[in-house]
Amino acid sequence: MLHPFRRLSSDLFDADIVIQKIIWLAASSATPVDEFKELCDGDPEMLLALMGLEDPRAEIECESCDGTGEIHSHNPKCMSCSGTGKVRDENEALDAEEVLTSAMHANKYGFLIQVATPVRVYEKADDTIYRSGWGHYHTGWLYVDALDETVFPVLTAWAEKMEASDRRKAGLAINSDDQGWT
Ligand SMILES: [Zn+2]
Repeated sequence: MLHPFRRLSSDLFDADIVIQKIIWLAASSATPVDEFKELCDGDPEMLLALMGLEDPRAEIECESCDGTGEIHSHNPKCMSCSGTGKVRDENEALDAEEVLTSAMHANKYGFLIQVATPVRVYEKADDTIYRSGWGHYHTGWLYVDALDETVFPVLTAWAEKMEASDRRKAGLAINSDDQGWT
């Protein structure tokens, strides 16, 4: 009998996609694993955005505009705070246990996965030709509710965004629906 992941395994191989780390939120709530704490410390905005959670940190006055929301008259909206005059206190660390609890409340019991795909270095002359290898690769974190064949389109969508950024870096045309990714 074929294992249900056999197809997934070869699809991921063909797509040059690897899952490097897996954090199962449902199984982490008793004590957050180090990788989760590192995400809380290292990139709190990204982590909260992945799970669609509110930023629990206190709002403080924006230093760029002294809380007015404005920089100067011909560029009225402050970029740092989007004109609100308030920003999240970035010196305040996210509490990993608190974030896990809010994840459970938001019905996020699934998996945070760190995915990787090689960076593509394109030929200027022919944009169908590129070099890539596992010595130099993109990584990113994604949230998925299940770890099964349904992750494949999620992973390939991420890899396509990485490809678009590699093409942009090489000054090549990209599809219009890839716009807006950094
Ligand atoms: Zn501001």
